[in-house]
Amino acid sequence: MKITKVDIVYNKKPIPLPEPWQAAWSAPDGKPVTSMGFSLYRMETDEGIVGYGPNTGANPNLAVGFDPHQVGYFWNKHMSGRRSGLSGKGAAGLEIAMWDIIGKAAKQPVSKLLGARTDKLLVYAATSRLLEKKHQVRQALELEDEGFKAIKLRLHRPDPWDDLDVVEAVVDEVDDDMMILVDANQNNPSDEYQFWSRQTALRIASELDDLGVYYLEEPLPRIDIEGLTDIADTVDMFVAGGEHSPTVYDFREHIIEGAYDIIQPDVAMTGNIGIIGIKKAADMADLYTRLVVPHVLSGGNCGIALPATLQAMATVDNCPLVEYPYDPPILEPKTNQSFVKEPVLIDEDGYVKVPELPGLGVEIEEDKITIK
Ligand SMILES: [Mg+2]
Repeated sequence: MKITKVDIVYNKKPIPLPEPWQAAWSAPDGKPVTSMGFSLYRMETDEGIVGYGPNTGANPNLAVGFDPHQVGYFWNKHMSGRRSGLSGKGAAGLEIAMWDIIGKAAKQPVSKLLGARTDKLLVYAATSRLLEKKHQVRQALELEDEGFKAIKLRLHRPDPWDDLDVVEAVVDEVDDDMMILVDANQNNPSDEYQFWSRQTALRIASELDDLGVYYLEEPLPRIDIEGLTDIADTVDMFVAGGEHSPTVYDFREHIIEGAYDIIQPDVAMTGNIGIIGIKKAADMADLYTRLVVPHVLSGGNCGIALPATLQAMATVDNCPLVEYPYDPPILEPKTNQSFVKEPVLIDEDGYVKVPELPGLGVEIEEDKITIK
């Protein structure tokens, strides 16, 4: 089988958001977003099988001429980041589309071809905004009613003690067994950010630990391995991070030094992880008895990035949770999974099913996409 053509396809129309979206990671200076879009690779083969992956910026022609079954060779050549000038090209979306084709050719979901361990995964509702306390508590209770067993709150208001106040109020109101996760987003580059010092991060971490928070994500920039390790050594709560790690090998120091108890590779966002890489990262963490809770894109490509993540994570045994971007009325299946026939939805116990259809397990609504 040969890949004959790869097109980049987009949303035909903008996907309107019911209210302007000021994501926590771009606050306070970022412009609120009013609509969402998506961009995918549409990969064709000489056997008529079509695969999809999220557009991760690589030239689509990079995959033309490959047999999709040589995806391991493709990953090593173009994505590993180890070969200077040759790899690290942001080709994760092409790799994901190749897996979609491999699964469709074998008439099996990718997880089964890789060796499935489970057919469902627990997810956490990843909220995205810095809501005021009352509003945040109300939302957490609504998410609990919808079945979520874990919720992630955003931190880094101008005064970090206000963050703590909100977390404490939520912890007080939700069921005792609800897992509360928090994300300080200290690796994001927003201009007006109040970046935490090591001392602030450590103090906040200790307070969160006392509140019984499950994990603290990105309390310091990714490169501050020493500072992160210090926090992880000091508190019982997990320290998590790594969504911006550009290649799999960038997790090495964090894992060895114990800077992250939980690594958070994203199958697509940095472009060089992919399905092979996210499994590799999970296995690397497993060797050091650490966990993986993958990052999943909040934007319009979630509809394909989430299934790709689930197919890979269904095969490992150190993945207690998967991110599920969900912040009604903004982040919902109708906005961030808009182009798939059957979006990934949670069940009453807070799990999602690993999609069972061949390939990534999703059917694309072809009438919603266009080639520009
Ligand atoms: Mg994050």
